[in-house]
Amino acid sequence: MKQWIAWLMLLLAAFTSTAAHAADGAPHQAQAVKVTTLSTMLTDYGTLGEWGFAALVEVDGRRILFDTGANPDTVLKNAEALKIDLSSVEEVVISHFHDDHTGGLLTLRKALMQKNPAALSHLYVGEGIFAPRYGKDGQSGTENDFPALAKAYLDTGGRIQQLSGPAEIASGIWLTGPVPRGHDETNWNPGLTVKTGGQLVPDTLREDTSLVIATASGVVIVTGCGHAGIMNIADAAQTITGDARLHAVIGGIHLFAKPDAVLIATAGRLKGLAYLLGAHCTGIEATVRLRELLALDRRTAVIAAVGSSFTLGKGIAAGQIAGWTG
Ligand SMILES: [Zn+2]
Ligand SMILES: [Zn+2]
Repeated sequence: MKQWIAWLMLLLAAFTSTAAHAADGAPHQAQAVKVTTLSTMLTDYGTLGEWGFAALVEVDGRRILFDTGANPDTVLKNAEALKIDLSSVEEVVISHFHDDHTGGLLTLRKALMQKNPAALSHLYVGEGIFAPRYGKDGQSGTENDFPALAKAYLDTGGRIQQLSGPAEIASGIWLTGPVPRGHDETNWNPGLTVKTGGQLVPDTLREDTSLVIATASGVVIVTGCGHAGIMNIADAAQTITGDARLHAVIGGIHLFAKPDAVLIATAGRLKGLAYLLGAHCTGIEATVRLRELLALDRRTAVIAAVGSSFTLGKGIAAGQIAGWTG
């Protein structure tokens, strides 16, 4: 009899740790959330800027690195400057194949595994990231460096989990995997192609994956370059969590070169958003315009600097240079 109870409890534990909903039917919600920018263009004292993105995501004690910056040692140096120890971070997400998001992966893994062999040992990517990319001539097929990087990463003992759709990697923390493209946002620099059924078709960065956190205040989205389009990502976040309330968007949403009409349409979809920490390819002008369109202010719509952060319940800490000192 006692054994039965033990088995039941084990089963229940397994169910509640992997299911999207708790035993009472309510969706999982994260309690403590902090996202800290580790790579973007704007810097603060003692840190390095670059065209790239990386952020440390901390949710209820779970620590996940989302993207790894462009240059091999930027994130490592910035974490040291900010006195953030990354060696206990065991999971890493690479949002898409572009090297301004993959550049630090190997350096970080090799440096951190000396302190903790499991550091950055579990890599999540979206399906499509390995696809060869071709120039318009269809000849080269060598524009994607990710397969070679992945091989070097596997050689360090890391493992790669490829996602074909949404996955809840911890209670209330989701990765979107490839995002349905209901809105035609074409949010990338065109030019490369992929092969589908022997035909060359434009590369839409199908693998582009964002991180979604369900909270009592609404959904928090962390995105690398937002190539899937932030409207599409918002739709996906809503579908995944069942929550239509957008609380915070953090990261790159690739609007820097978009005309005003696109910013207006984007703000329409993001209506009700409480916080925007616009990093990397969001663009400075676009962040300021979205602030206006979303009726946010200098505390709630901020251009991210290295070290700037968002904390659930507290809002954005902009750092000393990025627009708000309280
Ligand atoms: Zn990109
Ligand atoms: Zn990028």
